[in-house]
Amino acid sequence: MSNFNTETVLSVRHWTDTLFSFATTRDPAFRFASGQFTMIGLSLEGRPLLRAYSIASPTYDDRLEFFSIKVPDGPLTSRLQHLKEGDAILVGRKPTGTLVHDALLPGARLYLLGTGTGLAPFLSVIRDPSTYERFEKVVLVHGCRFKAELAYQDLILNHLPADELLGEMIRDQLVYHPMVTREPFENTGRITDAFTAGRLPGDLGLPAIAAEGDRFMLCGSPAMLADMTVWLKAQGLAEGSNANPGHYVIEKAFVER
Ligand SMILES: Cc1cc2nc3c(=O)[nH]c(=O)nc-3n(C[C@H](O)[C@H](O)[C@H](O)COP(=O)(O)OP(=O)(O)OC[C@H]3O[C@@H](n4cnc5c(N)ncnc54)[C@H](O)[C@@H]3O)c2cc1C
Repeated sequence: MSNFNTETVLSVRHWTDTLFSFATTRDPAFRFASGQFTMIGLSLEGRPLLRAYSIASPTYDDRLEFFSIKVPDGPLTSRLQHLKEGDAILVGRKPTGTLVHDALLPGARLYLLGTGTGLAPFLSVIRDPSTYERFEKVVLVHGCRFKAELAYQDLILNHLPADELLGEMIRDQLVYHPMVTREPFENTGRITDAFTAGRLPGDLGLPAIAAEGDRFMLCGSPAMLADMTVWLKAQGLAEGSNANPGHYVIEKAFVER
């Protein structure tokens, strides 16, 4: 049996000239946990060209959604950005990853820190009812260079609070904190700097970060993960894994090649 399902693209949305998202059909037997990633790609002259992608859709959706960068000379995304409705796409049957609830100890607050396409796994996590059963507050911090890159704001700010099933939990428990580094905005600067300077979580009216109640999922550039990890360790937090749950978990949003 192949390691891949061939799915069909159902819709494509271009957010900016560097970001797009697309939805596909979902094999009914395909299972994943919120926050996981899988390999996806295209068949080129009969050979698969694959890259790791976080699954942005919720686990109960009958479609799969992915949020993607467009790297101009990137082997996959230079092609993927031209996807259109009806195209075929390969989706790996074995999702995996560390941004899952089981890798975290119980806590009071869950911080989801994503830069760029690092938002993708959290779009699934914030639509998982068990996220709100496990944590009193869920804080989604999305950092980008420009305001236009703050994708999915309409979903987060308007659709989810009005959702029939999730709406009440979202309105009471989800805190969304977008940040921009390269143009004026209500919250400017890098996520790491906001924590090290003490603006977060204080600006949100939440208590100082402590191992007792705070849990983190991080998805961003290798540099963001390295810097934030140093700070979290200095606060007494320890990294978790599926085998050994801890206070925070990290996943690279991409690998520098
Ligand atoms: C665990 C994991 C999950 C991932 N999830 C996603 C996802 O949900 N969405 C997504 O777009 N990419 C994601 N990526 C990156 C993805 O696997 C590819 O690198 C990306 O699709 C570009 O592929 P490419 O073949 O065009 O270029 P590549 O040769 O893969 O990358 C070329 C260069 O582009 C830059 N780059 C690649 N991806 C990104 C990115 N996402 N943001 C900023 N710069 C980047 C890097 O500098 C990289 O060296 C993930 C990577 C990992 C390891």
